[in-house]
Amino acid sequence: MSYIQSIQLIPDNYGNPYIKLNHDYWDKDPLNVYIVVNQQTHESQGFVIDVVHAIAKWSNLLKQYSGDDTSWNFNIKTSSGFVITTGLTNERISNLPPDIIIELVGDPTHKCGVLGTTERPTLDQVKPIYSKIVTSCILENEVVLPGHRALFSSSMHEFGHILGLGHAFTTDTDLMCSDHTCINGGMEEPSQLDIKALFYMYGTDGFSGPHRELAEDSYYKLGVSQ
Ligand SMILES: [Zn+2]
Repeated sequence: MSYIQSIQLIPDNYGNPYIKLNHDYWDKDPLNVYIVVNQQTHESQGFVIDVVHAIAKWSNLLKQYSGDDTSWNFNIKTSSGFVITTGLTNERISNLPPDIIIELVGDPTHKCGVLGTTERPTLDQVKPIYSKIVTSCILENEVVLPGHRALFSSSMHEFGHILGLGHAFTTDTDLMCSDHTCINGGMEEPSQLDIKALFYMYGTDGFSGPHRELAEDSYYKLGVSQ
């Protein structure tokens, strides 16, 4: 199996790169995604396509590396009524309740930097998972639009969280880096650490169970047989 992007090790005492895993993960396939555009900030509408591309990219990579191209699917609906699916479906997907809600928000007070957040439901809360992607931010006292590339990579990172990944540690660069866990910023595409961690959680047959039982502070470490 070959991966697009290799991991660079930081020469330190912490060992191999590892990534935290959420013990609360998906148990159905396909997953239904609803992308909402905040009505007050209609420039956000122009970035819906970047979120859709990010979701399709995750689906494609998981299909490609697992060899299972009938699973790892998403039904995507946007607040403007656009409907798309990454797989084949006979269901009327436009009426399905969302498992995942991603809101695009233009925030005139947000400092440019981290553009996304993902809230995982607490233990007694049910899904959906809610992510927010900021489509405008403040740089040197001016409101700027971060642009398609930044929105795509923020969407890729937040979608990694949505799928069950935490942040990556002991690695130089990774899509799932946070400011606090890696030296450099994130990458645009998932690494082999990210993809293998998802296969460790879900197996290679999609989001449907059965899955590995994960404890509260689970992680996946590269280069260590599990
Ligand atoms: Zn993050």
